[in-house]
Amino acid sequence: MTHPNSDSAPVKVQQLINGEFQCSASKDWIDVTNPATQEVIAQVPCATADEVQQAIASAKAAFKVWRDTPVPARARVMLQYQALLKEHHDELAEILAQETGKTFEDAKGDVWRGIEVVEHAANIPSLLMGETVENVANGIDTYSYTQPLGVCAGITPFNFPAMIPLWMFPLAIACGNAFILKPSEQDPMTPMRLAELFIEAGAPKDVLQVIHGRKEQVDALLTDPEIKAISFVGSVPVGQYIYQTGTANMKRVQAFAGAKNHMVVMPDANKQQVVNNIVGASCGAAGQRCMAISVAVLVGDARAWVDDIKEALAGIRPGAWNDKQAAYGPIISPQAKQRVLSLIAKGKEEGATCLLDGSDCVVEGFPDGNWVGPTLFADVTPQMSIYSEEVFGPVLCVIGVDSLEEAIALINEHPCGNGTSIFTASGAAARKYQHEIEVGQVGINVPIPVPLPFFSFTGWKASFYGDQHAYGKQAIRFYTETKTITARWFESDIAASGPNMTIHL
Ligand code: NAD
Repeated sequence: MTHPNSDSAPVKVQQLINGEFQCSASKDWIDVTNPATQEVIAQVPCATADEVQQAIASAKAAFKVWRDTPVPARARVMLQYQALLKEHHDELAEILAQETGKTFEDAKGDVWRGIEVVEHAANIPSLLMGETVENVANGIDTYSYTQPLGVCAGITPFNFPAMIPLWMFPLAIACGNAFILKPSEQDPMTPMRLAELFIEAGAPKDVLQVIHGRKEQVDALLTDPEIKAISFVGSVPVGQYIYQTGTANMKRVQAFAGAKNHMVVMPDANKQQVVNNIVGASCGAAGQRCMAISVAVLVGDARAWVDDIKEALAGIRPGAWNDKQAAYGPIISPQAKQRVLSLIAKGKEEGATCLLDGSDCVVEGFPDGNWVGPTLFADVTPQMSIYSEEVFGPVLCVIGVDSLEEAIALINEHPCGNGTSIFTASGAAARKYQHEIEVGQVGINVPIPVPLPFFSFTGWKASFYGDQHAYGKQAIRFYTETKTITARWFESDIAASGPNMTIHL
């Protein structure tokens, strides 16, 4: 994955180009830091234009061979990959925890949710099955095949450096494509280890290429005619840019973007279950999850539960990745922490009641970490920045409403629609909610309803640009083209009649 420059210099993160793990010739390198200490643990290159072109050319050549590799052979690579990922689960989680700051258990979860997608990719023969109808006209049959697109690319965010690359390249490659991954420059070591294990699993060395960088490298992928499809996960503004630029360059694009997820709490719900679930859903991973609950909508008498939520949040604290008592880790960077702190300050300025303020959080032994303690705002209104913007920190906003109808109207007004949940004992309330809410993933007494890989990850509105979502059957449609064949086999070589001038079969 990396190689030391000298005894004292940070390790240099490699790229995977043309089947080789190699050190970039770039002069532009970005520090990768441990967010609990600010120690520079590695440096990641911004690939040169030439390196990006090499990756694209190599992927194009790889595709010509890989597309004809029998589908069961592709499935076997995924089976072997799944076994290797499980074998290296702890090792991957440790790398991931150090570069993201996630607690070890949370880092293991990040890897595990990716392993589940690889398991799904191992079912590729069944997933690729097309459709057939015999005898659509006399002696004529129609059937369809799903064929790969060519070279696909993925651009991934910092917050799930194992799961999100694994949402993309195993399925794209199982479909017969070649794939270029551009992981987040903030935590590139986990994706590089994933790539090493993929090659070890028996994948041809050049079907996966990994290049690093930022906008310039992404732009090269977005505009190159050899790239047929782009998968992106990240923030709303970048997602919009990727979707617009990729489609303007005639590519298929799926862009998963930011979120603001609400939990509706009905007064008939079990209070302790609500409180237990809201703590993890809002502050787990320091709130840096696209499915984190950042708004609790307390309905009717449930408004009084704000004190119980406050007490539970006050009982957790952040800490280093290997601190077993820590509920969550640091924010990814000092800049990201600053952004969270300024949104907390703005919340106070704009008139929300700050019941718990994590701005001055200190973690013993880690004076330089990007810590933010659990933060709770009550009396939040939709006009406030802490409500309209994605904070991406351990900050929970509470809004009180009188009825389920009012809760639904409030949530439907928000531009984002990634995930939501309702806690209730009423089947009727839950059904009304699942039917009327304009959000793509709904949990009923489940706080973070991330679908398992045989379904798809189906964010809506400003949380997703495109039509086919990640994993499940939709990913197969995204990474393939359908070819429909209409066939007639003559029983004799005598033409029954003269020229056929109609369009009828
Ligand atoms: P980001 O948008 O800053 O970066 C994502 C990727 O885009 C990175 O690889 C980055 O290098 C690249 N990038 C950044 N700026 C770019 C530009 N101007 N042009 C081209 N590429 C650019 O996101 P992040 O901070 O890494 O991740 C956090 C965001 O991701 C949050 O908003 C979160 O909600 C979102 N997210 C969404 C989902 C989902 O499924 N909807 C899942 C995880 C994360």
